[in-house]
Amino acid sequence: MSRAVYPGSFDPMTLGHLDIISRLTPLFDELIVLVSSTPNKKYLFSTQERKQIIEDCLKKEKKVRVEIWDGLTVDYCEKNKIPILIRGLRAVSDFDHEMIMANMNRRLKPKIETFLVYASAQFGYLSSSIVKEVAASGGTLTDLVPEPVEKALKVKFKGEVKS
Ligand code: ADP
Repeated sequence: MSRAVYPGSFDPMTLGHLDIISRLTPLFDELIVLVSSTPNKKYLFSTQERKQIIEDCLKKEKKVRVEIWDGLTVDYCEKNKIPILIRGLRAVSDFDHEMIMANMNRRLKPKIETFLVYASAQFGYLSSSIVKEVAASGGTLTDLVPEPVEKALKVKFKGEVKS
């Protein structure tokens, strides 16, 4: 069975994340979306909330599973015998960080390979942070996030988000 892990904070999931998931899912028997948190970083949604929102967005994707993991992604991969870790690349600004992570992960677990996937052009500017900024200022989220995320953001920002 071919499996891959797509790890991230997903705070919250955007259409850019969803695009990577729908493009990659057909290539594997199972894709695990791994919701993680970095210590000392502040999140808008708890890990449980992020997991639930992603599951709501992916109800029709039978080959995708969502899990929470607090440790290193490569430890999750090794524990579950998954040799592929997927990350997305939007612009040159993502490259340094992703290269450092990929090299460190290979040093930690040489058998786990990082696959870097280019963002689709229309989502190259899209990030969870920009979505939160727009939502906090009451801007429209159309074409930026899936419906369950729009709803959750409306709740967080008390209905100030326009649709
Ligand atoms: P992290 O904090 O681990 O970077 P994110 O949720 O921000 O978590 O991103 C998870 C992964 O998805 C990263 O590899 C990131 O580069 C990728 N990603 C984020 N936004 C997009 C997008 N718009 N298009 C494609 N990939 C994206």
